[in-house]
Amino acid sequence: MRLTPSLELDEFRGQVRSFIADKSPGVKPRAGIRAPEPEQIPDLRAWTAALYDAGYLGAEWPTAYGGTGRADLERAFVVAEELARARAWEPIGAGTLAASALIEFGSEEQKARFLPRIRSAQDIWCQLFSEPGAGSDLASLSTRARREGGEYVIDGQKVWTTNGQHADVGYLLARTDPDAPKHRGITAFALDMDTPGVDVRPLREITGTSDFNEVFLDGVRVPADRVIGEVGDGWRVANSSLGHERSGVAARGADLLRQLDDLLELAEGSRESGQPVLDDPATRRRIGRLAASVHVADLMSKAAQSRMVHGTEQAADSPLVKIFFSEANLAAAELGVALQGVDGLLVEGDPDVRADGWWQDAFLYARAYTIAGGANEVLRNVVAERALHLPREKR
Ligand SMILES: Cc1cc2nc3c(=O)[nH]c(=O)nc-3n(C[C@H](O)[C@H](O)[C@H](O)COP(=O)(O)OP(=O)(O)OC[C@H]3O[C@@H](n4cnc5c(N)ncnc54)[C@H](O)[C@@H]3O)c2cc1C
Repeated sequence: MRLTPSLELDEFRGQVRSFIADKSPGVKPRAGIRAPEPEQIPDLRAWTAALYDAGYLGAEWPTAYGGTGRADLERAFVVAEELARARAWEPIGAGTLAASALIEFGSEEQKARFLPRIRSAQDIWCQLFSEPGAGSDLASLSTRARREGGEYVIDGQKVWTTNGQHADVGYLLARTDPDAPKHRGITAFALDMDTPGVDVRPLREITGTSDFNEVFLDGVRVPADRVIGEVGDGWRVANSSLGHERSGVAARGADLLRQLDDLLELAEGSRESGQPVLDDPATRRRIGRLAASVHVADLMSKAAQSRMVHGTEQAADSPLVKIFFSEANLAAAELGVALQGVDGLLVEGDPDVRADGWWQDAFLYARAYTIAGGANEVLRNVVAERALHLPREKR
């Protein structure tokens, strides 16, 4: 397992850290994968482009499109950790996900059109997979795409579309053959979001922000050359691109360590009935328990990173890192609110609110991480069936 740092990686980490300090457009004001305000979009496009230009993103892309043609997972993990540690904005949208699909399955014309625009962040992408009736069971999706001459006509509804309100292009899954078994008959498309019939409606969440959207598709006409991969092969295209997305494993450990530091700072400045909260043995025990779960989650992230780098990844690695992260993250947010006593009822904008209401917002958002990227219950099934080889769930 790679736990001993190398000098070269340490130097690289130092460069990334300085780069973030110099170039990033400020610290993210809220926890989680959040949609920015419209006025922040130009800065976030420039930031995303700067990450690609510096080679901190897209290093594995073909040389013709600005990459090195070789994945360097260790460096990609360092970048993800440093972004999380600094609470810097992630590259905006689902461009990295779409790029993996295009590089592996896209036509030469699609690569030439879209990859440079992803690198320059001229195009923001969103992920149009989930539907009201198809989330965990994504293969049940019912958005239809019918061939009519040189076009597909698309009807249906997507939901949970992060950044849909800012997106230029959607990475869409739709059913092209309703008679085929459900994992076949799905096709992947690149959909221009300004096509007539695309209606993006932001949802207002419990946090008061609008990070996701509903996207209604009504008679949307997409040229047939916007199919990514083969018609009917969208399930493989989607799974392969999701499988390339590994940097989340690294970001998760770093995110929790940062939260633990902030939580200790919050605890040190908190008093209950005039007494420092850290004098209370029950509070100290709760912090100790959380610190233990954070360090376990971080070590699991490091072990998973190491196996990924050495090509010995196990089926349980990503699911377990995600489950442990999201549960420790929820416990941290609950503790961050509890440590403030009655002031935990204040929110962003209230006078005297601590840390600009960061913990209160994080508390409201934290459940999302137990669902996004695979609901924890479903991931537990994955661990049981694919890693522990227990009897399969009844389907
Ligand atoms: C923050 C966030 C951002 C997201 N962004 C996007 C995006 O940009 N694009 C996109 O396409 N999607 C996005 N999603 C959607 C996400 O992928 C889905 O929420 C997820 O797949 C779960 O689907 P669902 O919400 O329909 O819940 P369901 O699948 O309906 O699950 C509801 C509950 O039932 C449980 N459950 C379901 N099946 C089983 C089972 N077999 N065994 C045991 N329990 C089960 C689940 O664990 C969950 O508790 C996002 C979600 C979140 C939270």
